[in-house]
Amino acid sequence: MIKPHNCPVCEKTFNTSDEAGKSHFPFCSQRCRQVDLFRWSEGRYAVVEDIDPMVAEFLRDDPNITVQGEGIEGGQDSEP
Ligand SMILES: [Zn+2]
Repeated sequence: MIKPHNCPVCEKTFNTSDEAGKSHFPFCSQRCRQVDLFRWSEGRYAVVEDIDPMVAEFLRDDPNITVQGEGIEGGQDSEP
C-alpha cells in the first residue's frame, strides 16, 4: 500500500514512493525542507500557535526559549 503524504510545510500531497518524495521525506521538496529548517531556527526566538498551556508552562522554565502568544503564520503541526 502506498500512502500519499502531506508535506508539513506546503501541505501539498505527494507520493512517498517517488524518488523525490523519499529523498526529502517528510517534505515534498528540498525547498520545503529548507523552509522548515528556517522555521525551526526562528523557533528559538518564538514558539508559537496552539501551544498547550502545560507545555507553555514547561517552556517558560527554559531560559533559551521564548514563548509568545502569537506570531508566525502557517500551521506546521495543525491538523484539521
Ligand atoms: Zn512542500
